[in-house]
Amino acid sequence: MSMPKLLFEGLARAPLTEPRPTLDDQELAELARRLDTATRRRLGRSLSIRHVDAGSCNGCELEIHALNNAFYDLERLGLRFVASPRHADVLLVTGVVTHNMREALGRTHVAMPGPKWVVAVGSCALGGGMFAESYACVGGVEEVLPVDLHIRGCPPTPTALLQGLLALLEAPSPRASPGAAG
Ligand code: SF4
Repeated sequence: MSMPKLLFEGLARAPLTEPRPTLDDQELAELARRLDTATRRRLGRSLSIRHVDAGSCNGCELEIHALNNAFYDLERLGLRFVASPRHADVLLVTGVVTHNMREALGRTHVAMPGPKWVVAVGSCALGGGMFAESYACVGGVEEVLPVDLHIRGCPPTPTALLQGLLALLEAPSPRASPGAAG
């Protein structure tokens, strides 16, 4: 195809976008209401999350990043990502834990003030997933840290992430939280 024709088609064609999630607006509104109530009751403020990629393929990160888009708009739900573990309530870990990331993950956990939760996101964080047999990997997050909640999926959807965090906040105490969600 000639360059002018290619340019013309590029200008004339509608942009390629994915369809909006099929999640019911009412369902998301109800999830938002419950999250807001749970964070206020549990903490009296927003829930602060420190995310660490311990060896992910980045598929889980794409879904986590979607939580910040205009559709999910995470901060209106009383949740926010923070840059420092010293400000975090939740350590959100994605990916199988690689030998290279093991120490950094442990140090991040130590730097967090208590009480603190560890949430393992995705199949890789649960048991190593497709990378479990690799020489470069330690295994799932539980090999390194005490995990309060697993959010299953490869990758889990933004809604599954929100439902998992809600389960964590609604559990009677941190260590009594459900072992798996999503
Ligand atoms: S669970 Fe799936 S999407 Fe997430 S890091 Fe593993 S392979 Fe990637």
